[in-house]
Amino acid sequence: MNAHCDRAAWLLGPKHACQGQPAVVQPTRRIVLLGAPGVGKGTQSALIAATYGACPLSTGDIFRAARASEATDLTPPMREAIDHMHRGELVPDNTVLRLVRERMRCLTCSGGFILDGFPRTVPQAAALDVLMAEHQVFIELALSYELPETELIARISGRRICPACTSIYHEQMRPAKRTGICDRCGTGLVQREDDKPAAAQLRQRAYQAATAPLLTYYANRDVLVHIDASGSPEVVFSRTQAAITRKLGLGS
Ligand code: AMP
Repeated sequence: MNAHCDRAAWLLGPKHACQGQPAVVQPTRRIVLLGAPGVGKGTQSALIAATYGACPLSTGDIFRAARASEATDLTPPMREAIDHMHRGELVPDNTVLRLVRERMRCLTCSGGFILDGFPRTVPQAAALDVLMAEHQVFIELALSYELPETELIARISGRRICPACTSIYHEQMRPAKRTGICDRCGTGLVQREDDKPAAAQLRQRAYQAATAPLLTYYANRDVLVHIDASGSPEVVFSRTQAAITRKLGLGS
């Protein structure tokens, strides 16, 4: 990940400055990742960021970062959002959109971005388009990762994350070098509360009901590419790169 991608402004809010934006305006890379929970969007987002330099921005990470901060700092809407997240329900659009609006600087950053987990509903996508159009920036590519539901459940049950640096592992497919310890920062890995079976099932249903309609939304804007998400992260990433080259004309 590039030095400017410390994501402080995204994870912690507008009072926190990132280490610095790229001095040179980069070719545009404003990408949205779509796909059911467990499909591997977070892993692809990190790989795209490492290769193309755009910042990986996840709304789920904002909620997890807030939860990890001092509980007394949490506003009532943020507490409510975290409760929704733990149950596997979507956070209300208004709460999510308020957080994104506060972080518009990230969406107009000259380094570009990869959005993972936002937008998640058609009203969120429409609001995002309006916000970005005010700054003359646009979503250029929406990648939809696709996998059968049985495989999604297997991926979710083995997923472990680092609560400190948000790195993602999988017990079988992408194990940490030392079991249960983050390779990058040495923190103990955990299973996300919402990766536990009951919440994981609810999230699949929420995806089908609320997020799948976004495929039509982005297809109508001619920015959608479907990606087969089966195979190793590296194999999926080679498909991702082919789509980025084809649609955005970017080499790695
Ligand atoms: P994720 O890490 O993207 O799977 O997000 C984890 C959880 O955070 C989701 O299951 C929701 O409860 C909540 N969440 C994250 N992003 C959004 C969003 N854009 N809209 C509604 N809820 C969200």
